[in-house]
Amino acid sequence: MNFEEFNLSDSVLSAIYKKGFEKPTYVQEKVIPLMLSKKGNIIAQSKTGTGKTASFGIPLIELLKPKKYVQALILTPTRELSLQVAEEISSLKGKKRLKIFPVYGGQSINYQIQHLKRGVDVVVGTPGRILDHINRKTLDISKVEYFVLDEADEMLNMGFIDDVERIMENASDDKKILLFSATMPSRIISLAKKYMGTYEFVKA
Ligand code: AMP
Repeated sequence: MNFEEFNLSDSVLSAIYKKGFEKPTYVQEKVIPLMLSKKGNIIAQSKTGTGKTASFGIPLIELLKPKKYVQALILTPTRELSLQVAEEISSLKGKKRLKIFPVYGGQSINYQIQHLKRGVDVVVGTPGRILDHINRKTLDISKVEYFVLDEADEMLNMGFIDDVERIMENASDDKKILLFSATMPSRIISLAKKYMGTYEFVKA
């Protein structure tokens, strides 16, 4: 299989090739068409190194138009991963003028508030800081269409799962949820049952 088969826009396709990606990885083969078909929720059991970031990053770039409000929220367990994910998605942007902004603990909250005020399309962040912004009303996630939980099992291991739930409860009801996790502990499965209804399952 090759990237042409997804019918992506030229701009996204050339950004993919510019990164040196030749062929989609297994998780990309499965997740990219599912997301592009806008069918619904996805659970992907996949580890770091499988290309999982681009598997949701490529369709997000393809599907979103610049609107200056938060249309996609990506939660990650660490600030390093938030930065890495934001960078990977930005590098796939091509000509699209989407604003992708990382929001994590340890960085000046005022700096983040100023950026969020100017309007961003995609927020990538750690649960604690995201919740802090929601409580301060400096981040509105009521119009989020895509809610990505990246490394959900790590967020559980690090004690963030209650924050994750609280954030999910603040997001719009008709959002699509994409849950990525290397393992599927029972707490993650019950979270999926509670919030996701039906979903496609991909094991990479
Ligand atoms: P991830 O699993 O998302 O952490 O990605 C692991 C690494 O693989 C990152 O450096 C990506 O840029 C790279 N990568 C993702 N997709 C592909 C692909 N289709 N071909 C080659 N490298 C890729």
